[in-house]
Amino acid sequence: MPQAQIIDGKAIAESVRDEITRRAAALLETTGKRPGLAVVLVGEDPASQVYVRNKDRAAEACGFHSVKHTLAADSSEAEVLSLVEQLNNAPDIHGILVQLPLPGHIEESKVLRLIRPEKDVDGFHPVNVGLLTAGERDSALVPCTPAGSLVLLKRTLGDTLSGKTAVVVGRSNIVGKPMASLLLQESCTVTIAHSRTKDLPDVVRGADIVVAAVGRPEMVKGSWIRDGATVIDVGINRIPAPERGEGKSRLVGDVAFDEAVGHAGAITPVPGSVGPMTIAMLMVNTLTAARRLLGLPEEEPLF
Ligand code: NAP
Repeated sequence: MPQAQIIDGKAIAESVRDEITRRAAALLETTGKRPGLAVVLVGEDPASQVYVRNKDRAAEACGFHSVKHTLAADSSEAEVLSLVEQLNNAPDIHGILVQLPLPGHIEESKVLRLIRPEKDVDGFHPVNVGLLTAGERDSALVPCTPAGSLVLLKRTLGDTLSGKTAVVVGRSNIVGKPMASLLLQESCTVTIAHSRTKDLPDVVRGADIVVAAVGRPEMVKGSWIRDGATVIDVGINRIPAPERGEGKSRLVGDVAFDEAVGHAGAITPVPGSVGPMTIAMLMVNTLTAARRLLGLPEEEPLF
């Protein structure tokens, strides 16, 4: 059986971060300003702590001004809102990211809507959602995971995705819906599948491009993948791995990789593809936000 090309998201993410580092250095030289990123973590969720640490380190490595605000899990909603307001007004901060999920007593949408759209580097504010949906991607800040997935697709298939059939499995606001908007803007014919979709295997079989963002380990089987299709696996699922020793676990995607690799033309591995791209695109968004807030012209888009 032919084997798919493995899409090296780590290397592509590194090349994007190198370019951002170069552009940030040029910005510093011409304006004396660094892009500023503030990441807010509420509580002690271990996975969120790792994500926040990685984002903070990546920002520093790109030469950004990076600040991390850690609030106790029992902080009030008013305290979180007040911090966001303070960051909205901070002249050295161009990007604000509030790590999700927030503790249950804090209304996420209230916090996300308070972030100034110009500083909303996660792209979750209704203004950015609206711009993306209206086909005005270049004026928006686009959510990092779908943006990174699009970069992987273009680096694999070339810049023209026009006319291809794409199936996005998952309709979350964070991944599925913005991914579908981006693919539509690339003139793909897009289907969004979800938990109520009938005959999902047949729907997926119709696609030149499959993006899986479901959160169910290895749900998309190899036999669902059309020969030669390009598969982007967004899922990150931790499953028990007793073969590695008692109590051990490992990460798998939403696609049964070992099966799919025999059908797909190209496929992303999990971990190590969409994850690193997500962080790279956060750096892209922070630099974009900084340039816009400083009144500087847009640079050559990276996707
Ligand atoms: P989510 O909000 O839980 O959404 C999951 C979507 O999958 C929903 O739309 C749901 O449909 C659909 N779904 C669930 N079961 C299904 C089934 N049996 N058949 C078809 N569709 C089904 O998840 P998310 O935030 O989009 O994340 C998805 C995955 O991506 C997770 O594994 C997450 O960890 C990962 N992720 C990775 C990154 C990264 O940086 N690599 C970033 C974000 C998320 P309904 O709407 O009908 O319920």
